Amino acid sequence: MLGLMMDMPLTVTSIMGHVERVHGGTGIVSVTHDQPRHRCTYADAFRRARQLASALAAFGIRNGDRVGTLAWNDYRHFELYYAISCMGAVTHTINPRLFPEQIAWIVNDARDRVLFVDPLVLPIVESVRPQLQHVETIVVLSDAAHMPAVAHAGALCYEGFIAAQPEAFSWPDLEEQTACTLCYTSGTTGNPRGVLYSHRSQVLHSLFSCAVDALALSARDVVMPVVPMFHVNAWGLAYSAPLVGAKLVFPGPKAGDGETLQNLMDTEQVTFSAGVPTVWLALLAYLRRTGKRIDSLQRVVIGGAACPWSVMEEFERDHGVHVHHAWGMTEMSPLGTVNHPIRGTETLAPDEQKARRMKQGRAMFGVEMKVVDDSGAELPWDGRSAGLLKVRGPTVCAGYFQETGPVEAHAEPGWFATGDVAHIDADGYLQITDRAKDVIKSGGEWISSIDLENAAMEHPAVAEAAVIAVPHPTWTERPLLILVLRERCALTREEMLAFLRERVAKWWLPDDVVFVTQIPHTATGKILKTKLRKLYTDYKLHDDEEGKVSGCPPGQ
Ligand code: ADP
Repeated sequence: MLGLMMDMPLTVTSIMGHVERVHGGTGIVSVTHDQPRHRCTYADAFRRARQLASALAAFGIRNGDRVGTLAWNDYRHFELYYAISCMGAVTHTINPRLFPEQIAWIVNDARDRVLFVDPLVLPIVESVRPQLQHVETIVVLSDAAHMPAVAHAGALCYEGFIAAQPEAFSWPDLEEQTACTLCYTSGTTGNPRGVLYSHRSQVLHSLFSCAVDALALSARDVVMPVVPMFHVNAWGLAYSAPLVGAKLVFPGPKAGDGETLQNLMDTEQVTFSAGVPTVWLALLAYLRRTGKRIDSLQRVVIGGAACPWSVMEEFERDHGVHVHHAWGMTEMSPLGTVNHPIRGTETLAPDEQKARRMKQGRAMFGVEMKVVDDSGAELPWDGRSAGLLKVRGPTVCAGYFQETGPVEAHAEPGWFATGDVAHIDADGYLQITDRAKDVIKSGGEWISSIDLENAAMEHPAVAEAAVIAVPHPTWTERPLLILVLRERCALTREEMLAFLRERVAKWWLPDDVVFVTQIPHTATGKILKTKLRKLYTDYKLHDDEEGKVSGCPPGQ
């Protein structure tokens, strides 16, 4: 027997309609290259989205066509999100920080017909323009007065593109499974792969992520997505914040600038923000240096890479900001778990509370997780048994764009293998210990690079830490610790090893410590382990007695 409720498709158009009716007067504040502080309302943005859709339709964009964006977080990118997807085309967000050749590859693979490009990124796009096989035009995200000189003859100006268009546009009735957005993974293990979200998955992800034990967004919030809109939909915030009527504050090209972030947070009374661990280092350093405050900020969600305790502690101790650790991936729209306390947490000893806070959190509704061993058998949720993490749910990708052959991640039908190694405790808290390809295998036993990095980051002199495996004749692999020190701080190898000796098992102790001024990052701000591994492939480990003893796995 079927239920007798209305069958309304879950589309981004339905989010837009709701926001326009209920939260139309709520504001969007943006920093852009042409305006230091642009202000508009959701109603203004959707009116302009209708003009933009009219312009794209007049250009000849049809259902299913891909339209690329290379843009920062601002109101024009927001308009593109809604206009392109709701007219039935696919919003293809591209990371401007990729190498030009990677950008060209992705644009060609997606067969983007039009590219919307921020002026700051235009030189990169111009440099590969002859290689772009399907792009018919480039629209620069600017007004006429600020059009960059570098723009080639045919490039259009965004404000000119939409100006003469009617403000009325009849959004088509889309089926909820219609493709909505396309985002390529960073391709750390080969060519990038396209993850093609549907309207339904975007709406469900927004609903799941607004829950109180997820992002807990509401109409009382002022949300500043520091996580970029070019990478996994700014963790869905461009949909979920308007959905609940939160005000949006966009830092534009200044997301990495501590001064701009503090200023925006303070003057716009930001209550919630989100981003990968590295982006907060610049803000915290700025606050330390200047003594400036971010008093309105209540919560920050940090994920995309393991969040060091030092970052959580500094936010909380010095600024009263609660940090929620979260985990997800491009293939999951992206949110999977968010860390919140549960009943009884307050009765745990401080050490246990801290250990729990460092975990990646509990699954949101809609995300099913399991951890399996090498034979595929499911492991117990005991907080110890680590294995490959698999997920499934309506916001998890079922296949990659234009790939028809078998996908390794889907080797077990109905499940997506994340490539992460993790364990889950009896309360459902997930802890990621490594990416499968980053695992350090020493004498047949696993060493968690994330645990070692976290332990090293607890030293007050350490700004950033990375642990990689280097080949070892006896133990197959041993950990090498690579450190960036904070400004005006000094630390020796021996001091670091002594510090770690108190915190990790003896056989986990890195065989050596290397001090560098910079650690390479991916285009999304994560530590680039592939590059580090390449840099240190021939690294000769310190051959002292200490190193030999520390290289000994348990029981040997
Ligand atoms: P890509 O796979 O393209 O690098 P994603 O943003 O999809 O980019 O990255 C997903 C991966 O990032 C996860 O599979 C996991 O390895 C890592 N990751 C995400 N959040 C966390 C976290 N909180 N702690 C540890 N690793 C994380």
